[in-house]
Amino acid sequence: MCEQELNKIKQEVENCSLCPLHKSRTMVVFGDGNPKGKIFLIGEGPGFEEDKSGKAFIGRSGQLLDKILLACNFNRNDHVYIGNIVKCRPPGNRTPSTEEQAACLPYLERQIELISPEIIVILGATALQALLGKNLKITKERGNWHIWFNRFVMPTYHPSALLRNPSLKKDAWEDFKKVILKYRELVDPDHRSPFVK
Ligand code: SF4
Repeated sequence: MCEQELNKIKQEVENCSLCPLHKSRTMVVFGDGNPKGKIFLIGEGPGFEEDKSGKAFIGRSGQLLDKILLACNFNRNDHVYIGNIVKCRPPGNRTPSTEEQAACLPYLERQIELISPEIIVILGATALQALLGKNLKITKERGNWHIWFNRFVMPTYHPSALLRNPSLKKDAWEDFKKVILKYRELVDPDHRSPFVK
């Protein structure tokens, strides 16, 4: 049922022209992963590789994200679903405008409603500000649990920030360790990772 409803939204999105980003997109990036997964990861928007393939987080940032997920013993097939604030690539990877974000956000909200994750992981400042408040700073909010519409939300750095500044990886790992422990508390008491026993 959830997947049927998701497919309906996907068809809407594939024909969407609500904001100017539809003019320059190659493909819409709707979202990837397990719609029954209990963790929903939310980034900013598709990049070059994602725009070409229609798949979420498959470029260098996505590869780093998959490594982090592996270290957590999470993967896209079982535990997580991944989406973005905007579903079409902003030209030159610029930050999507406030208007573009506002136009696209209802699709993401409907995805969240259907997938009904226990935990949301916000990746980076744009997603943080779009979902939790425009004046919030990722450097301050990361690593702290927030409650958003009765869901636990963990903001952390976007993988592209980790690629630009590897010294942030240590903090990001601390944030993901909290996600592992919350997953254990809320979803699977037996979940273990190679690094968090
Ligand atoms: S970014 Fe979102 S709102 Fe804008 S055209 Fe693409 S799907 Fe529609």
